[in-house]
Amino acid sequence: MFDNLSYKLDRAFKTLKGQGQITEVNVATTVKEIRRALVDADVNFKVAKDVTDRIKEEALGRDVLISVSPGQLLVKITQEELAKMMGEKQVDISTEGSPSTILISGLQGSGKTTFSGKLANRLKKQGKQVLLAACDIYRPAAIDQLKVLGEQIGVEVYAEPENKDAVKIAKNAIKFAKDNGKSIVIVDTAGRLAVDEVMMKEISSLKKELNPSETLFVVDSMTGQDAVNTAKTFNEQLDFDGVVLTKLDGDTRGGAALSIRTVVEKPIKFISSGEKMEAIDLFYPDRMAQRILGMGDVVSLVEKAQETFDQEETNRLSKKIRKNQFDFEDFLSQLQQIKKMGNVKDLLGMLPGMGKQIKDLDIDDDAFKPVEAIIRSMTYEERSNPELMNASRKKRIAEGSGTSVQEINNLLKQFKDMRKMMKTMNKMSGSKRGLAGFN
Ligand code: GDP
Repeated sequence: MFDNLSYKLDRAFKTLKGQGQITEVNVATTVKEIRRALVDADVNFKVAKDVTDRIKEEALGRDVLISVSPGQLLVKITQEELAKMMGEKQVDISTEGSPSTILISGLQGSGKTTFSGKLANRLKKQGKQVLLAACDIYRPAAIDQLKVLGEQIGVEVYAEPENKDAVKIAKNAIKFAKDNGKSIVIVDTAGRLAVDEVMMKEISSLKKELNPSETLFVVDSMTGQDAVNTAKTFNEQLDFDGVVLTKLDGDTRGGAALSIRTVVEKPIKFISSGEKMEAIDLFYPDRMAQRILGMGDVVSLVEKAQETFDQEETNRLSKKIRKNQFDFEDFLSQLQQIKKMGNVKDLLGMLPGMGKQIKDLDIDDDAFKPVEAIIRSMTYEERSNPELMNASRKKRIAEGSGTSVQEINNLLKQFKDMRKMMKTMNKMSGSKRGLAGFN
């Protein structure tokens, strides 16, 4: 996510290295580089100019504290200004009304249907009774796609494949929701490849007739500058309440999407970064700015863990860590939980300083495969007592898992180091709390 932008901003700050203070001259060079980095990432030109003008003004106006270098100060100011550009505060969706209706708009392929499923999944986990309404009347496949997602997450889908009137279907869906005790209806609508009159008329009448509690505009972050223009047109027609950025997991420049907030003055409410139903996050401008600047986003990481991890399993693991009994069986269980959280590279990118280091690495869920294969080739005894491992056992496991003895030795060493670290942490915390503090 925003790897290139992070890299180029980092390079921009380096132009201040070794400088004792901020001057008109040195700040001008850095700010020019920052602007170039933003424009290269597809941030709207005018937005990039305004942001960097403010960064310069702030930098020249602030006294550099003795403990902070000009470079560090500029990173801080840039973080604040990027957060402002993206809206500063997190804004939630409204779920007023009974049932409350959430209208999903956007171009075809932007990720509306996938997002509808993710949002339904999220709201369901919060204990809401959700109904998905399939109102894409032009693409029969869209109805099937929503049904598949609905089944996957255990949310009912309302559809009328023969009906060609989106407003009527949506109204029937709302009635169905009322009669069946649902509190939220998510209306997935039809999109076109480009803005056209028929689509705009249809989505406008849906908005007028349904009077939704929330209208969201979904935009594919990979579409570059067009994203801003499309957002403008939809906003003029719909006066939507919030923006959803999708496909942020790709190697996208994504900056255009981030400028939408400033251009249309509507908050970005969610980001979607992957095809898994869990790959949805509330949008926090300040945290995103930190992430772009390579400061990581540990708060989101922990929150995500808390949402995704099975509480019982986490408590069980914490207990074992406290008692120094953490074994390979537990390691495997933890790997499974981490994989549920989303794209591994994105997760690592949330750790401070990691973004830069893993920029060019090709990490995906398959990265864990050899480790999993090794553990699965161990007997239960070996998993719970790694000390048993001798040369012949290692050879057997290597053959069984299609790996080498060297890889097994590496894993055993890492595991040993991990256990040592857990032991130290237990001692430090007076053995009262577990490792990650999740409980
Ligand atoms: P719609 O036409 O607006 O309903 O778009 P879809 O939900 O059908 O999405 C279009 C394509 O983008 C599908 O292949 C999705 O699997 C994919 N997609 C949607 N959201 C994401 C995302 O956040 N990341 C990635 N990588 N792909 C996505």
